Amino acid sequence: MHVKLRNLLAGLLALIGQCLWFPAAAHAADGAVASAPPAAAAYRTSLVLLGTAGGRTSYNGSHLAGISSALVVDGDVYLVDFGEGWLRRYLQAGLGKMPGKPGLSSLRAAFITHLHADHVVDYPSLFLFGTTDGLVARKAPVRVFGPGPRGSLVPVAGANRGKVPVIHPEDPTPGTVAMTESIYKAFANDINDNIRDSQKPDPHTLVSVEDIRLPAGLVVHPDQDPAPDMQPFPVYQDEKVKVTAILVSHAPVYPSYAFRFDTADGAVVFSGDTSPSRNLIRLAQGADILVHEVIDTKWIDEFLPKPRNAAQEAKARHLLEAHTAVETVGGVAQASGVKTLVLSHLAPADSTESRWRRAQEGFSGRVVVGKDLMWLGVGAPVSVGKSQ
Ligand SMILES: [Zn+2]
Ligand SMILES: [Zn+2]
Repeated sequence: MHVKLRNLLAGLLALIGQCLWFPAAAHAADGAVASAPPAAAAYRTSLVLLGTAGGRTSYNGSHLAGISSALVVDGDVYLVDFGEGWLRRYLQAGLGKMPGKPGLSSLRAAFITHLHADHVVDYPSLFLFGTTDGLVARKAPVRVFGPGPRGSLVPVAGANRGKVPVIHPEDPTPGTVAMTESIYKAFANDINDNIRDSQKPDPHTLVSVEDIRLPAGLVVHPDQDPAPDMQPFPVYQDEKVKVTAILVSHAPVYPSYAFRFDTADGAVVFSGDTSPSRNLIRLAQGADILVHEVIDTKWIDEFLPKPRNAAQEAKARHLLEAHTAVETVGGVAQASGVKTLVLSHLAPADSTESRWRRAQEGFSGRVVVGKDLMWLGVGAPVSVGKSQ
């Protein structure tokens, strides 16, 4: 009787789950890719890759959207980064069709790893198009967490370049809050038009933006070491997720964060942009899924063939030193003790599956080469049961 009741409840939960979380989207059975929700399985928590391109999506006319990922937890969506095309992908993935949560009203919080343009270029879509795309239906503002100001300008690279001009010298390294206000100001004409003529709300009432605060007492020298050894620290928590962050090595960028989401179904970690990072390995210990950036080193040699001039050499050095090579990322996953390594932020966006497969080197777990609109279940499926 007890077992029957439990089976019945599990079946009901699975049916509700399918309706709630996977309305029209491709869905994956714990890492495998499927073109439609499996008939007898659903997950309470899923990772959805919205965009998987690293760098410019215009590169070679790539068809991939810019870097952006979503974690769906029990009908709420948590977003990581706002790469080019994220909003279109959000809706294409079916995240805007969850019952009772039209459009972006399912978006609860968003987290920006760092302020390179490929991670924030479509951030303005959140509040410029978001109102019409369902944001206004939310009961509480969307929470946005992103890096604070760098605080000092990046050192000038290259010898004998003398004094190098900067734009907006009065505030040359703004953080997320200041960047958001600047975007509001830049679009004031449109925003005020919408407030006065279309009765749309002030975006300040729809989005609550905060600069991530590093732990008190942590001393960082952004130019010498932007990611010193440290412990993960809390950024956000609600009844469904706990989000912790750590600084990662993406010099000369500072701050650059990785995020860990702990849920009742398991943990998912997003590396952000980083070279192989001890901090990242610390943050990712024992996680179910590590979503890690990756760069194809063969492509660097093709893109910037030797001999190189000084500017080309500097570019090649940045690509190699600020990112993680495909031959190295498996070792990072192994040291982290994760079950599944998901490659995203693929640089270049037009490289081949066989080249990315080299990420298996040094990793005994499963490697998934990320694709836009890929769903991956986290934890155990809520199953109808095999008897049916
Ligand atoms: Zn990037
Ligand atoms: Zn970057």
